[in-house]
Amino acid sequence: MTTAPFGVRAERLAPHTSLRIGGPADFFLRVASERDLAGAIVVAREHELPVFLLGGGTNLLVADEGVRGVVLQNGWSDTKIDGPTIDAASGTPLAHVAAVAARAGISGLEWMATVPGTVGGAVHGNAGAFGTETADVIVDATLMDLNGDSWTAGAEELGYSYRTSALQGTPIVCVRARFRGTEGDRATAVRRIKEMANERMRKQPLAQPNTGSIFRNPPGDHAGRLIEAVGLKGARIGGAIVSEKHANFIVNTGEATAADVKALMERCRREVLAKFGVQLVPEVELVGDW
Ligand SMILES: Cc1cc2nc3c(=O)[nH]c(=O)nc-3n(C[C@H](O)[C@H](O)[C@H](O)COP(=O)(O)OP(=O)(O)OC[C@H]3O[C@@H](n4cnc5c(N)ncnc54)[C@H](O)[C@@H]3O)c2cc1C
Repeated sequence: MTTAPFGVRAERLAPHTSLRIGGPADFFLRVASERDLAGAIVVAREHELPVFLLGGGTNLLVADEGVRGVVLQNGWSDTKIDGPTIDAASGTPLAHVAAVAARAGISGLEWMATVPGTVGGAVHGNAGAFGTETADVIVDATLMDLNGDSWTAGAEELGYSYRTSALQGTPIVCVRARFRGTEGDRATAVRRIKEMANERMRKQPLAQPNTGSIFRNPPGDHAGRLIEAVGLKGARIGGAIVSEKHANFIVNTGEATAADVKALMERCRREVLAKFGVQLVPEVELVGDW
């Protein structure tokens, strides 16, 4: 094994994910600035170690065997306001962007308060909620490659469609991004955030560890409706359960393994395909050594 100078060895990833599941990373390092991020990426490359950039860990199913190479946890949070535009570092919690915007009387970014995770995760996966997605509000993003070289890409270069971007499947990371709202007023934006958060609490099993929607919604339908219609609400494998509150959520009762969650996902896919002929596509990203 390499002796690369990377933070912690064999760090369990479970505590760093919203599902509270995941084996060890060979090396784990928290970065808190652009310099940290670029430095770590370049050192990893010199040691020929693969890099996985972890944001909030809110859209991940990390394998029980963990992740080989280096996991960088993005703890770089910073925002600047310029008129109705917010410029945010990629480790900034998306909810913080919403709060900063609301306080500044910027509207149109309230939905971000309800999507857990970081700016980088949202830019990578085109996160969205309440009818708006990242692609609708992003102005541009500063990106970085494995050499530590960075450049700015406009919204149209990010290849967005539903929960998809041109960054997926590439080693390119988002360093920061600018989002544009419209001039509004603070009280309305704050009220809107509260309404959206209440709606979320009513509909989603937020008290148990989960990773948001497990599957993407197929065109013109809802994955949750299909899973419920095949009778899998409440289905259980090991410590993983299809939520009784929302069938497109799998929750961890406390002792679930990644293998339990994966097996339950496979059961949902199999039964929905058999009954409706619909192929469910995972929204959650499976990472690590399966
Ligand atoms: C309760 C709950 C509700 C949710 N509701 C929604 C919702 O309404 N809408 C929605 O879209 N999602 C939702 N999600 C899923 C999740 O919040 C989003 O996918 C979020 O954008 C993931 O961000 P993250 O920082 O946690 O990314 P992570 O889960 O840490 O990583 C996801 C992917 O993004 C990559 N990534 C992270 N940071 C960067 C970066 N800086 N540059 C490049 N790639 C990066 C990672 O490498 C990984 O491939 C929900 C999740 C939960 C737990």
